[in-house]
Amino acid sequence: MTLLSVPVSEIFFSYQGEGIYAGQPQVFVRFAGCNLRCRYCDTPSTQEIKTNHVRLGATQLLNQIRALAQKHFIGPLRVFPPMVSFTGGEPLLHAAMLRALLPALKKEKFLVYLETNGTLPGNYATVARWVDIVAMDIKLPSACGKNCWSAHSRFLSAARRKAFVKIIVTRGTRNSEIVRAAKLVAGISHKIPVILQPVTPSKVCPAPVHGQSGAWLAVAGSYLKDVRVVPQLHKLWHVR
Ligand code: SF4
Repeated sequence: MTLLSVPVSEIFFSYQGEGIYAGQPQVFVRFAGCNLRCRYCDTPSTQEIKTNHVRLGATQLLNQIRALAQKHFIGPLRVFPPMVSFTGGEPLLHAAMLRALLPALKKEKFLVYLETNGTLPGNYATVARWVDIVAMDIKLPSACGKNCWSAHSRFLSAARRKAFVKIIVTRGTRNSEIVRAAKLVAGISHKIPVILQPVTPSKVCPAPVHGQSGAWLAVAGSYLKDVRVVPQLHKLWHVR
């Protein structure tokens, strides 16, 4: 273990609320700091590193993850392998910490789930060997104001065997963006699961209107084998 420390927003146990692993118990480690500023961001307090973000080293992180796993993966939940989700913010901004921490977690048989905005393929390459599942976003320019297509393509090419893709769709999503995203994924493998996630609405980012998501599902489905519309379920369950 090193003297390295990283800003952490929270560490907690809950159930995954997004994507194809929704409903599975996980320990969540939410790092602070992000390289994007999505309009719909539901964790805006993690975009910038602030003084209220506690800095933790690898040993402290490992101890807290281990303690939560020992507390919650018991009784009926024993049937689930302990899984730890690294989220943010953008966890790959802290790749050095992940390199320090993940080998120890793998030694203790944790499944490692990485939730990422899919824009830092170089950083991903340095931790990929310890990651089991990649939940990779494709960020649409209409909601993020940035063109991430090239980075997404390189990232998904590297993570293809471990990844599913999540695309957050809003009222302002353009049909052409769905086509471009679906073609990007299909160009790597049309079997990679893709989730269209209607944004949880806010004042700055309204949800798609009736019929939009279904139309995008049909568009994406013409390129992809496994595409579904799934909202953020933890918001419906009222859990973190
Ligand atoms: S990438 Fe994630 S954490 Fe960063 S601004 Fe976008 S939604 Fe928020």
